[in-house]
Parts: sequence; C-alpha cells; structure tokens
Amino acid sequence: MDFLTFMSVFLLLISTSCYGLSENHHGDEEGGLLVVAPAKQQKEFDYFLLALLWPGTLCQGTNHCCSANACCRSNATSMFTIHGLWVNYNDGTWPACCNNGSNFDIKKITPLLGGLQIYWPSLSCNLESTCDGGKGLFWAHEWEKHGTCATPVIWDEYTYFLTTLNIYFKYNITKILIEEGYIPSNSEKYPLGGIVSAIQNAVRATPLLVCSDGAVQELRLCFCKNFEPQDCPNNVTPEEACPRYVSLPEYVPRI
Ligand code: 5GP
Repeated sequence: MDFLTFMSVFLLLISTSCYGLSENHHGDEEGGLLVVAPAKQQKEFDYFLLALLWPGTLCQGTNHCCSANACCRSNATSMFTIHGLWVNYNDGTWPACCNNGSNFDIKKITPLLGGLQIYWPSLSCNLESTCDGGKGLFWAHEWEKHGTCATPVIWDEYTYFLTTLNIYFKYNITKILIEEGYIPSNSEKYPLGGIVSAIQNAVRATPLLVCSDGAVQELRLCFCKNFEPQDCPNNVTPEEACPRYVSLPEYVPRI
C-alpha cells in the first residue's frame, strides 16, 4: 500500500471509528461529596459506559435492611443489575454534574418505575450525593452526575433511563454467562478470560470487570455514541482488578 492510500484508509478509519480526539475535563468524588468541574462549556464526551453490578458480591456487605434496598428482598436477585450509564473521555477522565438545573424529578420517569425497581435497584439503604450537595435516590445520583453529561446524544431524564434499560435488555449479560456455564455459585471459581471471551463473542466488544476479594463486583460494557459496542479501555485500579480466577457469588437474601 503506498503512502497516499495508507493515509486515505487511516483518515477514513478515524472519521468512522468511535474515537475522536479529546481534552481533559472531569469531575471527581472526595469523601462522598461531588467535586465538580464547571458545568459551562462542558466538552462533549467520547463514549458511553454501561456499568452493571453483581448483587451476589455487593450484598455481602449488607448489615441493615430497609424496603429500598434490593439486597433485602426475599426473592433472589441472581442477575446483574444496573449501576448507571456513564459518559467518558478517551483519556480516562469523565465529566460529571453537567447541568445543575436538571435536578432529578421522579415524576418524569413514572412509566419506567416498575422496571427500574427490578433492574436498577439501590443495593444500599443510604441516600446518594446529588449535584447540588444534597442527598437523593440512587437514580437521582446517576441522572444528575452522569446523565446530564450525555448531551448531545441524550438530553432528558426520561430518555436517559429508557435508553439505559434498552441497552441493558439488549445485551443480557447474565443470560450470556449462564448459557456459557458461568453459573452463580458460592463454591466455584471461573477463569476471568473465559468470562471475557463469552461476552466478547456475544457482544463483539471487550468488557471490563471489577472485583472485590476475587469476586465479580461490577461489569462494564462500552458503546460508541450510536450505541454500537466498543472495547472498554482497561483502566481499573490495581485494587479493583480481577484475578485470573474469579467467583460469581450467589445472592443470599438479607432478611
Ligand atoms: P457512581 O458515582 O455513579 O455511583 O459511580 C461512579 C464511581 O465509579 C465513581 O467513584 C467514579 O470515580 C468511578 N469510576 C471508575 N471508572 C469510571 C469511569 O470509567 N467512568 C466514570 N464516570 N466513573 C468511573
């Protein structure tokens, strides 16, 4: 291939790939409070990340119960639940709290509440930080912190929650893993590479797993702005990284 042909192919790939060039601009958390970059002139994000939680691992830390906490439900939640749809920059940072005028309003998602309670439940009794420095529902935290930064793809609260549910159902990670023999178990350990391959084969992109004491705690899928799957960058901290063999603990109700 001569240089001009190479450059044409290269430019075509850049223009059609998910990735663009980005600057650094992010929000972060300190001691549970959101420390937020100025909302004005927020640079557009580069890709979506759907973060899923594994209640079998997270509910092991439950020490008191309340009706809002799905760890306290009597029926087993042996499936990944939704943590949130996040937006990230390619440089490993992310924006947060991009529109303080867009406070969470539960009335705007009334038709979705049945699904959200099952598939996007809180796994704790604690309220979460909101962008105005207050406390609110898990959904309020996710919308205000992440959802408000998803413009120009997602502009409103209802679309944020509906879109997230739709992607979650489209890529049914629990089903994909069970079909490949990765059954929740309190005794088995599974090769991390096998779990990653099962998802790669089904989704056509590489997920990112986060572990706690060798147990899967979170699973992340990444998407271009048109919601086509893309590989997730491997940017977990050493403490969150999964070992070569991981467990997928069964959910034990805490009641
Ligand atoms: P949340 O605040 O939505 O419950 O969870 C986000 C947490 O995940 C924060 O502590 C944030 O620092 C961390 N985090 C780790 N990786 C990412 C990432 O790729 N994108 C975003 N937005 N947050 C991430």
